[in-house]
Order: sequence, then C-alpha cells, then structure tokens
Amino acid sequence: MKTLILGAGYAGLAVATQLKATPGLDVALVEQNPYHTFETRLHEAAAHNTQVTLPIAPLLRGTGVTMELARIISVDLDAKTVETSQGVESYDKLVIALGSVTNFYRIPGLADFASELKSTEDASEIYDWINRAHQASYTGSRNIVIGGAGLTGVELVTEIAQRTADLSGRTGLPKLNIYLVEAGPKILPVLEESLREKTMKVLEGYDIQVLTGHRLMKASPEGVTLQPLEGEALELPAGKIIWTGGIQAQDIVRGEKLEKGPANRVVVDRALRVTAYPDVFVIGDMALAKDSEGKPVPTTAQHAGQQGRLTGKNLMRLAKGEELKAYEPNTLGEFVSLGGLMAVGWMKLPWNQKLAMTGGIAHIMKRATEWRWRQSIE
Ligand SMILES: Cc1cc2nc3c(=O)[nH]c(=O)nc-3n(C[C@H](O)[C@H](O)[C@H](O)COP(=O)(O)OP(=O)(O)OC[C@H]3O[C@@H](n4cnc5c(N)ncnc54)[C@H](O)[C@@H]3O)c2cc1C
Repeated sequence: MKTLILGAGYAGLAVATQLKATPGLDVALVEQNPYHTFETRLHEAAAHNTQVTLPIAPLLRGTGVTMELARIISVDLDAKTVETSQGVESYDKLVIALGSVTNFYRIPGLADFASELKSTEDASEIYDWINRAHQASYTGSRNIVIGGAGLTGVELVTEIAQRTADLSGRTGLPKLNIYLVEAGPKILPVLEESLREKTMKVLEGYDIQVLTGHRLMKASPEGVTLQPLEGEALELPAGKIIWTGGIQAQDIVRGEKLEKGPANRVVVDRALRVTAYPDVFVIGDMALAKDSEGKPVPTTAQHAGQQGRLTGKNLMRLAKGEELKAYEPNTLGEFVSLGGLMAVGWMKLPWNQKLAMTGGIAHIMKRATEWRWRQSIE
C-alpha cells in the first residue's frame, strides 16, 4: 500500500514518527526542507537568531518511512496523483499536512511591503533588518509595525522589544519604536481577561504602543495607513512592517468533490478523512476538523500534533485491517511567551477547569509543551 505523507510540520511529522516498519506498508514523507521547523518558536529566531530546526532523517529511523526532498506543486484527488518538483507520483493512501500560508486579506500593498513569519527565511529577514536598524549608518524609520495582536504578533513584539533594548544598550543608538496594530477591540481574544490585562502591563513595560481598534488599510514602502474606529485615517511611517494578522490553508489540492470551509480549510470527517475521498487524510492547519459540539478545532501545533499521532495510528490500523478511531480534540492549555522568562497562559485541570498562570511558571509550562513535542518525535 503506497502511502504519501505531504509535509513534515507538526502534523505530518507526528504521523511519520508514529509508524513502525510494517510489511505491506510503503510510506514516503515528502517535504521541501530537510529539516522540521519549530514554527511555534519562529518569533525567537526573528529576534535572536535562535536555532529552531531539527534534521528530519534521523527522526525516521525504525519507522520504515523514507524521506523525499521535494516541493509539492499540486495534488489531484480525482487522478490520485501528486505533482512535485521531482515528478508525478501516484498513491493508494494520502496524508496532506502542508500547513497554512499568510492571509493578507487583499489589503492594498500588504503582500508586497510587509514581512511575514511563517518560515526560517522570514525570521532571518526580520533578524537582519533589526540588526541593520541598529547600525549608525541606518537612516530609515525606526518604527516597526506588527499587524495582528494574536499569539504570533504578541510573542513577536515582546521578543523584538528585548532585542532592541539589548542592541540599543550596546550601541548607544535609540531603541526601535514598536507598534502592535489590531483591528479588533482587544489583543489575544482567546485568552481570559485577567491574562490579557497582565499581558497589556508587560507590553506597556516594554514601551510597546498597542493600537487596538485600528484597521490596517494599506501598506507602502513608507509605512501603513490605519483606520481607527472613529475619526480620520492616520499615516504611520515604518521602516519595517510585519503582518501576523491571519492565515489560510495552502491552496494546492484539487478535487471535484472537495469541500472547503472558511480560510480554505478542507472539510474532514471524524477520522480526519475527506468524505468524498476516503483514501485521503487532511490534518493540521489545512484541515477543518470539528469537536464534538461541531466547533472548528483551532489551528495550533498542539492540535496538529494530536491529529498526526492519531492518523499515524490509523494508518497502522488500516494496514492490519482494523477499524479507524475517531479524532477527539483535547486542548490541554495555551501559553503565550512574553519575552525572556515571562509568559501567561492556562492549563486544563480535571472536570474542564482551567488554571491560569503568569510569570516564570507559565514560561516553564510553555517550555514543557515544546519539550514534550520533541520527546514525541525523537
Ligand atoms: C510565530 C508562531 C508562533 C506560534 N505559536 C504557537 C504556540 O505557542 N502554540 C501552538 O499550538 N501553535 C502555535 N503556532 C501555530 C502552529 O505553529 C501551527 O498551528 C502549526 O505549525 C500547524 O502545523 P501543521 O503541521 O499543520 O503545519 P506546519 O507546521 O506549518 O508544517 C507544514 C509543513 O509542510 C511543508 N510544506 C509546505 N508547503 C510545502 C510544499 N509546497 N512542498 C513541500 N513541503 C511543503 C512545510 O515546509 C512544513 O514543514 C504558532 C505559529 C507561529 C507562526
């Protein structure tokens, strides 16, 4: 049974590392990079050049999975083929785990003039700009505008705040002026109020200007145009614009009977298969999986990993002729790092209670979730 796993992110790598060499199961993992990216730590790489990748090949020992280094160009579910930079391959079973791309919402100029934070290349480009902006020869604007005050935006601004304070102290040059712009009324809408208040205090302590209720209308080489809820639009000059305000699923899969939901996510059944194409699993950020109440499962590394582990086990079950198990999402907690040893978040307790945490303990919990992920794939 020829099985292809597309993408070695949190979802795809979890599938591959669950597998054990099994007669009759011929599995290849197709990925454009020879390494796995800890996407949840890209903000650290953007500010501090932290190493956030891990070579994939050693992780596949004992799994029976072979690695194919190739860029996927398109997937045709009706023809059961995958076109890659290396040629066209057919499959019996397919797992699509190609993650998401930035959604610029067609805001004029944004895709052309804003950086994004989805890859190590993006992180390096931001890191290089921060360094350049702290050289005496730099004459551009010292304003850095981050659009989108969700998890990624908030984690990024706090790391940049630490980095600019450090560089300014060393060079004697002024710090960057950091603006966090959000169209909605509050930052981190998924968090409870007390954690949001704590986060706001931390951001204020870093001198970060938080502009909630400001819609980013346009980006240009000079800066951004913002529309506040009331009053005139305002022009904010910027030396650097970074957009973390939205994602959408990769638009790479074709199929006459393919059903997609909001943000291009592919509708899947309880076993994470595409209903009209039961040989195809879609998992991670690309999938529109639902919980038992019918609510869409969040696009997070935590859920991508859970879906991957289940799919790996389900592939083994299929090879043995056993029944597939259904996906039951389990949100164990959420932690937002706020630079250095500071974080906020909550963890799930029995009977669906939540334990809110701030400071060093939340930071340790955040690190623990990253450590658990590494343990699960190594
Ligand atoms: C800065 C940042 C911080 C975050 N923090 C958190 C957090 O604290 N907690 C949390 O739970 N989630 C967090 N997330 C979200 C989380 O990273 C994603 O939900 C998660 O990565 C989704 O996993 P995935 O496997 O679906 O996709 P990905 O991890 O994005 O993996 C997709 C894989 O497919 C490969 N690929 C893509 N296109 C192609 C192609 N055409 N050809 C070949 N290969 C391809 C990619 O190289 C990649 O390896 C954060 C995201 C960002 C950007």
